[in-house]
Amino acid sequence: MTEVTTFAESRLVQVRRDIESVCTEAGRAPDSVRLVAISKTFAAEAILPVLHEGQRVFGENRVQEARAKWPALRDRFPGVELHLVGPLQSNKAKEAIQLFEAIHAVDRASLCAALAKEIQRQGRAPILFVEINTGAEPQKSGVLPDAADDFLKSCRDTYGLPIAGLMCIPPLHEAPAPHFALTAQIAARNGLRLLSMGMTADFPTAIRFGATHVRVGTAIFGARPQHRSIE
Ligand SMILES: *Cc1c(COP(=O)(O)O)cnc(C)c1O
Repeated sequence: MTEVTTFAESRLVQVRRDIESVCTEAGRAPDSVRLVAISKTFAAEAILPVLHEGQRVFGENRVQEARAKWPALRDRFPGVELHLVGPLQSNKAKEAIQLFEAIHAVDRASLCAALAKEIQRQGRAPILFVEINTGAEPQKSGVLPDAADDFLKSCRDTYGLPIAGLMCIPPLHEAPAPHFALTAQIAARNGLRLLSMGMTADFPTAIRFGATHVRVGTAIFGARPQHRSIE
């Protein structure tokens, strides 16, 4: 078991402990928060120790990268649950439904239509999150907060898509709490029970605001190579 004694392993344990202690402080059950280990840009060798440590829930932000890395890892480690956390093009919906157990960035009608069609065809329904662009940032994907209720209604009524929750990525240089609060509020009034929010810098805050899925990369794997980092 020498290969498993690494940097990444102890960081994973630390993140799990942090989640547990914030949950306890917030009066939440530790198992009410799912840790999605974001392995984007990292090769299989860097992911292996984290798998050996027992982590099974991982996130990638590109369909192509996930397809290249994960089939072989899944064969070796039963029970892997793969989440797509980045934007998805409608023409990759088919492959996304094949590859992922959860999709975190549903954000437009054309994508809803493509996902609904593939879910029907493949008989496989991932957990779906609608991304909310809480900071109304022009360069970011996601539905604007004011448009969220109508969009969620059309997911249900027009496309028959079972949306389970909301996802947000707060603006880089703002306090995240108001963005988490807003996302939680939109979810509550639309009867959605899942909240994908919180990354390395702010997952404790996200848990205090009700996150059910935290997406943590850097705190587990270390810094990503700069030239390939895509936020
Ligand atoms: C990269 C990424 C993360 C992880 O970010 P860290 O700061 O490394 O924890 C979380 N969510 C999304 C959507 C990402 O693209």
